[in-house]
Amino acid sequence: MRLIFMGPPGAGKGTQAKVVADRFGIPAISTGDIFRANVSEGTELGVEAKRYMDAGEYVPDSITNRMVRNRIDEEDAVKGFLLDGYPRTLDQVEELDGMIRFTGHRLDTVIVLTVDPDELVRRLTERAESEGRSDDTEEVVRRRQEVYAEQTEPLIEVYRSRGLVREVNGIGEVDEVTERILDALADVQES
Ligand code: AMP
Repeated sequence: MRLIFMGPPGAGKGTQAKVVADRFGIPAISTGDIFRANVSEGTELGVEAKRYMDAGEYVPDSITNRMVRNRIDEEDAVKGFLLDGYPRTLDQVEELDGMIRFTGHRLDTVIVLTVDPDELVRRLTERAESEGRSDDTEEVVRRRQEVYAEQTEPLIEVYRSRGLVREVNGIGEVDEVTERILDALADVQES
């Protein structure tokens, strides 16, 4: 099973990705989480990534692609994976295509979580208070939404043209949204 979760910052991708990946027995690979882990460990990658993250910008493709390539080469990802927050640029789409092709598999489905913009800002402000993420200030939140609209939203059409996109309403209780996602994945054949 090779899945991608897409949706604007604050759509609930991370929460849902973990639950859904668990159901399928595959790892949820979150590029944001890997960057944050590197930031807190103070690695070279973390120091480099933090500059971009704190500004609400994307970490350069060369860095991000290499990190994902290494991660999906790990043993637990051989049987599949759920990508949360990757790909986010056209270059990353191409890189991912290459990585998956190399393993002789294919991408199964792209789940797009939809949430209206006002709800997103409300959620992100709330998360800023509860988690204290340094990239959840109002200015950075706004920039992250813009970057998503400019660089990542167009990817939905790329995957739609391949017949891979399933949109899921991301508004509601966590369990409710999980059920919708599982329904959307019910007939997906494992590759
Ligand atoms: P997230 O937790 O997925 O919202 O990611 C937090 C931040 O990490 C983003 O705002 C970016 O700065 C960086 N990031 C995460 N995934 C990517 C990616 N695929 N490409 C570039 N930057 C990323």
